[in-house]
Amino acid sequence: RAKQLGGNGHQFFQQEMHDQAMQRLAMETALRKAIQNNGLHLHYQPQVDALSGRIVGLEALARWRDPDYGDVSPADFIPLAEQTGLIVPLGSWVLTEACQQARRWHDRTDSDFYISVNLSVGQFADEGLVDNIHATLEATGVRPEQLVLEITESLVMSEPEYHIHILETIRNLGIRLALDDFGTGYSSLSYLRNLPIDILKLDRQFLSNLAHNSEDAAIARATITMAADIGLKVVAEGVETADQLRWLLSQDCHLVQGYFFSRPLSDEQISELIQLPPAELSGRWPKY
Ligand code: C2E
Ligand code: MG
Ligand code: MG
Ligand code: MG
Repeated sequence: RAKQLGGNGHQFFQQEMHDQAMQRLAMETALRKAIQNNGLHLHYQPQVDALSGRIVGLEALARWRDPDYGDVSPADFIPLAEQTGLIVPLGSWVLTEACQQARRWHDRTDSDFYISVNLSVGQFADEGLVDNIHATLEATGVRPEQLVLEITESLVMSEPEYHIHILETIRNLGIRLALDDFGTGYSSLSYLRNLPIDILKLDRQFLSNLAHNSEDAAIARATITMAADIGLKVVAEGVETADQLRWLLSQDCHLVQGYFFSRPLSDEQISELIQLPPAELSGRWPKY
């Protein structure tokens, strides 16, 4: 009897695996279509200098609203894109769209924020990556210093020499590089010295434990100080509360991104924000 049950269990397991594979395949097909047929769009989240209230940068974040699946979270479709190779056309679409939008905004306002675009490890497998970035800047008329590319620690943990070489090539174009989600991976601060990066983005996990854990606070404090010492700009991600912001300011970290100032917004909402005179924009932010 036990044997029989085991047999059924096995069959059931296979059926389950098969269903999951079919669902994944259907979703992959839908995502491929979305990339081809303009079914993705971007939201933009401000990075704010809390001292002046100015928007220093806008991070482009991919959004997918599918006719069948509804809103799919990037936490689901970005990994799917990475696993299926779709990240290459997806990433290329994001870069072009973000640069076109940046160019329109820069033409309409005299603000000089950068646009920040996420790059996945899988995009580095594409030999055309650097040429594509260069061509996109040329085609859209965005200047290299107006673009920041966000990479993660995983990129430089795997095949560091190969990846660092490409990063240096990108940086030689005048584009700045940000290390995203810092504090979630394994790279040490001393390793940062060897990376061709300009900006360190502290992961939001960093902030979440501050109030409860003095060790975490000590690590956060040391990280901010050392990053500044080796010449990196530090952007704190996931700032949600006035308390967190005040703590960051007490550590001389004043570049922040998070729901406290703004959620990621549509291009229309951003257009409205960036045409405000500085005093009026400051007036829009919550007080702390
Ligand atoms: P990320 O690059 O670290 O982007 C920041 C994420 O944190 C965004 O999630 C943003 O909405 C969220 N966030 C911002 N402020 C707060 C806050 O105060 N509290 C909380 N709880 N969350 C906050 P989102 O848009 O869901 O994107 C998730 C991740 O998906 C991104 O993390 C990035 O790794 C990836 N991603 C999104 N768009 C792209 C893209 O165009 N290309 C690539 N390669 N990855 C992307
Ligand atoms: Mg990012
Ligand atoms: Mg991040
Ligand atoms: Mg993050």
